[in-house]
Amino acid sequence: MPPAERPQPTAFDTLVTALRRLPGVGPRTAQRYAYHLLQHDREAAESIASALIAATMRVRHCSRCNTFTEHEVCEVCLSPQRDPALLCVVETPADLVTVEQTLAFGGLYFVLMGRLSPLDGIGPAEIISSNCWRGPPMAW
Ligand SMILES: [Zn+2]
Repeated sequence: MPPAERPQPTAFDTLVTALRRLPGVGPRTAQRYAYHLLQHDREAAESIASALIAATMRVRHCSRCNTFTEHEVCEVCLSPQRDPALLCVVETPADLVTVEQTLAFGGLYFVLMGRLSPLDGIGPAEIISSNCWRGPPMAW
């Protein structure tokens, strides 16, 4: 092999690199997870791999509120019990779930998907003018 040629990463290296893409997971933690899954819990490793593939194939964005759903429109948007005059704008689907768990809000949502970033010049106006919002006009 010529000296300039790099060896191909091993499957283990590729797994560690993939795990490092998770938030808060550095190289040592990624390596620890990889060793754990391969050494002690291969069944969990296969389960996680299958679940990730299924989720990435089936989960998409609700065409109305932008949250995650396996349908064209999510259950919240379809519910006749929700008050369409109330709108809660949240950053992520996890935020939507947190608000839902309070049982204190009966309106609809719009999920920004973390796109609001004033330092990068992405504010509410940019979100609204993008392709996301399909509801009534919002006043900011
Ligand atoms: Zn929805």
